[in-house]
Amino acid sequence: MAQYIIVGGGSAGCVIASRLTEDPKVTVTLLEEGPRDSSIFIHLPVTYYKTGQGSLVERYRWETGPGYTGTPSPTMVQARVLGGGSSVNAMVYLRGVPQDYDEWEAAGAEGWSYKDVLPFFRKSEHNDRFFNENHGVDGLLGVSDQKYTHPLSKIWLQACQQAGLRHNPDFNSGIQDGCGLYQINARNGRRSSTSCAFLKPAKKRPNLQIKTNCRVLRIIVEHGRATGVVYLEGNQEKTLTAELEVIVSAGTINSPKLLMVSGIGPAGHLTDKGVKVVHDLPGVGQNLQDHIEVSLINELRKPFSYDKYKKLHWQFAAGLQYLLFREGPVTSNVVEAGAFWQTAVASGRADAQYCFLAGAGVEEGVGTVPGGNGCTLNVCQTRPKSVGHVALRSSNPLDFPYIKPNYLQEQHDVECMAEAVEFGRFIMSQPVIAQYIRREYMPSTPLFTRADYVKYVHQEAHAALHPVGTCRIGTDDMAVVDPGLRVRGLKGLRVADASVMPNLCSSNTNAAAIMIGEKASYHMQGN
Ligand SMILES: Cc1cc2nc3c(=O)[nH]c(=O)nc-3n(C[C@H](O)[C@H](O)[C@H](O)COP(=O)(O)OP(=O)(O)OC[C@H]3O[C@@H](n4cnc5c(N)ncnc54)[C@H](O)[C@@H]3O)c2cc1C
Repeated sequence: MAQYIIVGGGSAGCVIASRLTEDPKVTVTLLEEGPRDSSIFIHLPVTYYKTGQGSLVERYRWETGPGYTGTPSPTMVQARVLGGGSSVNAMVYLRGVPQDYDEWEAAGAEGWSYKDVLPFFRKSEHNDRFFNENHGVDGLLGVSDQKYTHPLSKIWLQACQQAGLRHNPDFNSGIQDGCGLYQINARNGRRSSTSCAFLKPAKKRPNLQIKTNCRVLRIIVEHGRATGVVYLEGNQEKTLTAELEVIVSAGTINSPKLLMVSGIGPAGHLTDKGVKVVHDLPGVGQNLQDHIEVSLINELRKPFSYDKYKKLHWQFAAGLQYLLFREGPVTSNVVEAGAFWQTAVASGRADAQYCFLAGAGVEEGVGTVPGGNGCTLNVCQTRPKSVGHVALRSSNPLDFPYIKPNYLQEQHDVECMAEAVEFGRFIMSQPVIAQYIRREYMPSTPLFTRADYVKYVHQEAHAALHPVGTCRIGTDDMAVVDPGLRVRGLKGLRVADASVMPNLCSSNTNAAAIMIGEKASYHMQGN
């Protein structure tokens, strides 16, 4: 028995486990489905190319719709390891813009406006460059400048400026437009996941129990209160009781699934799938929002990118530099430079994000180049209007959920992406970078007209791996949790992870998930 059970030791779950157990009177058990984060690839930033597409992620098939004409069975990867997304992701540290959070509050998430959430971003942060009204230095999460930046990333930033973008020294200052180098979740040249930053210092506390390789199958609800969980350890089904609360932090895909398989969700759907309804909550699994991305790949004339490290002797040299000095390419997260830009359909803030990777074949589903030396420009829509949902395929908790993101269903999103891709190619055509490029590899056929771009986007867009919103905060009938993150209509049950975001923030989502973990803990401590 524990006072609190946390389901999922991901970006948010590890923060909550750490913060709650700062009080020695509070007991917490954290149950994580994946393994411990012992793989060295997690901790070396450059091996993002392994963590983002290896055995530490689960692949979820998503259902296509009219917006998508690409591969027949597309998948979305999500982390399955202690630290969750923060252990496998590209480490890019971005929060979006103040307007994102002000819109959360306007949508019913009282107390989640920018001025409300900023103290929690600052609380988590140990920034190695900034200390001001936007940035903190006393937190546990490493936020650093890159120790090594590939020359091609710097050249790409010059190309952005040649294309008309201004240089932005801090994307998290509240002003996002422009191009610059990302700050990353690293400390002393190592990844700063929430497992390393928050859980590690708490591990020795006698009031914290961390159980990995334990998959929660169901939440037990008795007389309107969550009293524990049933979980699988090896082949054994076990029960654990929570004296005070169960906190679901299993991520945007699995948190709603776990609620539904436990009988908490839209009554009609649960009945159809043979699940006994415990609590009718129609919004569970609805409001799935995700960023969509198109990758532009170029083949380089010479080994001008990280691809040269595919050769063993270069790997050896980089490895030695890291071992001796903790410096060099091994400290790079590869996704070094970025930009934000407003398309013609933007409404007053950037709606397109560019991530430059001085390499090809780094991320799952994004190809390499035949000549071996390439670079990739990911073009991402930050403010999509298309909305989907997560549902059950069956009542069996071991079955994967049904995921229908409806990417590019809205014409607005198609227009935005088509223009953003065109501008991405414009950046890549600037003389300062064009001199390094042998040929454009993706797109492989010429694009001239807007219709060409639209067709290309429908074919090539893929999940940008930032799903949010399926247990959203609010006070209306479709909201799943109240502003204190308590599941509406039940006692002893909260959801705290990316699934509670009412809307996507205009950037990558890890920082916001961590902020949610910080704020959830604050609410649980009686605030
Ligand atoms: C490959 C990749 C690259 C990304 N790159 C970036 C980036 O560079 N910057 C950025 O800001 N964001 C990035 N993101 C997104 C970001 O990492 C996520 O938004 C964030 O991690 C979400 O946090 P979370 O706490 O909601 O869920 P997660 O961190 O996914 O945690 C959920 C945890 O719950 C566990 N779990 C699930 N079901 C159960 C169950 N039934 N029982 C027990 N445990 C369970 C999972 O194993 C997982 O560890 C990336 C994501 C991916 C997948």
